[in-house]
Amino acid sequence: KPVAIVCIGMAGSGKTTFMQQINAYLHNKKDGAVPYVINLDPAVLNTPFESNIDIRDSVKYKEVMKEYNLGPNGGILTSLNLFATKIDQVLNLLEKRASPDPANPARKPITNILVDTPGQIEVFVWSASGTILLESLASSFPTVIAYVIDTPRTSSTSTFMSNMLYACSILYKTKLPMILVFNKTDIKDASFAKEWMTDYDAFQAALQADENGNAFGGQEGEGGGSGSGYMGSLLNSMSLMLEEFYAHLSVVSVSSHLGTGIPEFFEAVKEKAEEFKRDYQPELEKRR
Ligand code: GDP
Ligand code: MG
Repeated sequence: KPVAIVCIGMAGSGKTTFMQQINAYLHNKKDGAVPYVINLDPAVLNTPFESNIDIRDSVKYKEVMKEYNLGPNGGILTSLNLFATKIDQVLNLLEKRASPDPANPARKPITNILVDTPGQIEVFVWSASGTILLESLASSFPTVIAYVIDTPRTSSTSTFMSNMLYACSILYKTKLPMILVFNKTDIKDASFAKEWMTDYDAFQAALQADENGNAFGGQEGEGGGSGSGYMGSLLNSMSLMLEEFYAHLSVVSVSSHLGTGIPEFFEAVKEKAEEFKRDYQPELEKRR
């Protein structure tokens, strides 16, 4: 069965550019990989890849905004809702393309389903239609989340922590295996993040250093440092919780501009797809 990869991440983290890279990588592979591309962002102007299914073909975002008198976010959400009503047709199509076609033996079954999601992360992750789309996909195919991170913009301890907590909440919400994709490493290397994720002391030291230079972590005269004040003890508890979260993740660093790290990403996909079949699928079936 083809493995579905759903790209999720903050607006501007590089989901669409990353999609282009993984799509190109699969097309260039000589082992007969056949990607099938789905664009779920109704508001994107141009996609740098060709989609097999594009939400924009069936839902006109601008017209939805006008017709229902909505702002941009409401427009995206309503477009996604309208598209979600057609998920049966989408699944039928995918199922058909996932098996050989006797009438057309030259056409190879698809090996991967690549899904791009709306720029605004919350519209997809926290909406009923996003949930329906994701659950429908996961009920038919091994599905993994690629959580795309803007590495240069997550290099302070506080943005890093916030981003990891967000990723954790998505893992909890979707209950699907997750790969953290540190993107834009052509601008900033992700080694700092990998270190913070594996070495608790290193993260504590970075926290301390950051806190000495900002307003969090204790009032003046209180001594500062991560041990003092509400913020300090909260950060300590959160980083312990995150340690448990990290243990379940695959982490890769990529540059969607240069195309580096993509083979490592697909290694992680392979691993997570196995995990999906072993750990997640039985759970999903129980819940249904
Ligand atoms: P999306 O909103 O998550 O789909 O993000 P986009 O793919 O549209 O990218 C947002 C911006 O980040 C664009 O200007 C991209 O050119 C840029 N970008 C994406 N990936 C990379 C990368 O690997 N390196 C650099 N330097 N810029 C990137
Ligand atoms: Mg995008």
